[in-house]
Amino acid sequence: MTFDSHRLLDLPRYPDHGYALLADRIRRLLATTADLVFVQAEAMLALEAVAASIARPGIVAVNVVTSPYGKWFGAWLRRGGASVHEVVAAPGQPVEASAVADCLKTLGHVDIVAAVHAESSSGVLNPLAELSALAKSHNALFVVDAVASVGGHVIDVDGQGVDIAVIGPQKALAGPAGVSAVLLGQRAWAHIDALPDFAPSSLSLAALKRDWLERDRPALPGTPPALEFWALDAAIARIEPEGFGQVIARHQQAARASRAALRALGVPPWVARDDVASALVTAAPVPQGINAGELIAQALRYGAEITPGFGDAAGLLVRLNHTGRNANAEAVLANVVAYGRALEALRFPVDLRAAADAVAHEYGRSPAGAADGPQP
Ligand SMILES: *Cc1c(COP(=O)(O)O)cnc(C)c1O
Repeated sequence: MTFDSHRLLDLPRYPDHGYALLADRIRRLLATTADLVFVQAEAMLALEAVAASIARPGIVAVNVVTSPYGKWFGAWLRRGGASVHEVVAAPGQPVEASAVADCLKTLGHVDIVAAVHAESSSGVLNPLAELSALAKSHNALFVVDAVASVGGHVIDVDGQGVDIAVIGPQKALAGPAGVSAVLLGQRAWAHIDALPDFAPSSLSLAALKRDWLERDRPALPGTPPALEFWALDAAIARIEPEGFGQVIARHQQAARASRAALRALGVPPWVARDDVASALVTAAPVPQGINAGELIAQALRYGAEITPGFGDAAGLLVRLNHTGRNANAEAVLANVVAYGRALEALRFPVDLRAAADAVAHEYGRSPAGAADGPQP
């Protein structure tokens, strides 16, 4: 099949009333009553808009850092004038809730607790419920980067007390990367409304509230990218019949199979505990004496998409990707076999047969729907 880029030209305009409908379809998938505003850009800009909209001099924030994403978020909060206290986890590991608790206790008054939920950069999952409870115990706003968890993990925005969540369609939802969204609850708006606005600015969530939410959600301001919104519409339409719970279950099954296969291979997953591992990527260790670049180059010869860790985790781990359309048996098997054969080529003994059996066993044992994610 050849890709005809000309089909991307001369698109019909995305209908003016369509943005509100699309927002509500996403809210329905996530089963949330929070407001959803679109940011007409990649998720990094949505994160920057959140930071710019909630930070001012005098605001105290506790920022969990488990990847470069968290580091950048902290830098944007600081740029907005907030005083930012960072809780940094060990490279490629989830944050310890007790470390966040200690930081909160020392500070006393805290306005914001921010964290990434799942990390695509290292394959860790931060303890959302515990972090939320800690934020609530200090009456702080709980802000979550859920770009790499939406569609892979349950994120109960209302039930888990998430005040602000940033999501993007380009990971588990297998959609476009050029549009993203922010979910905001009442507490988030109360915080933002109490601060002086800096509009006109593409980073102002207050402006989106004033000009879109409070005006019955007309067409988005400016020239909204039709390409991106049609693609987002299609991605959501592809998920709706499958069911959001099934999308999550498919990712969790891919993670279970990948982790079982690594153990069978004789190289336990980088993140030791199953309950703090990402369902979108599985981190595999780079064994002692082996160079990460060489390992990836070898794996590439076997046709799998294995990528290095980045940030603190670079050089320590490689990522087996099972995100979006790749959350299936074929991709999981291809990754595990490529990783295993690459290790063999570098004279590191592994049990490839056992690894392949482990993948087959996970997929033969139960359809993804039997996983423990909630079904809609
Ligand atoms: C992917 C991701 C983003 C968005 O970054 P991209 O540049 O689109 O890859 C933000 N936060 C997290 C945690 C992510 O995994």
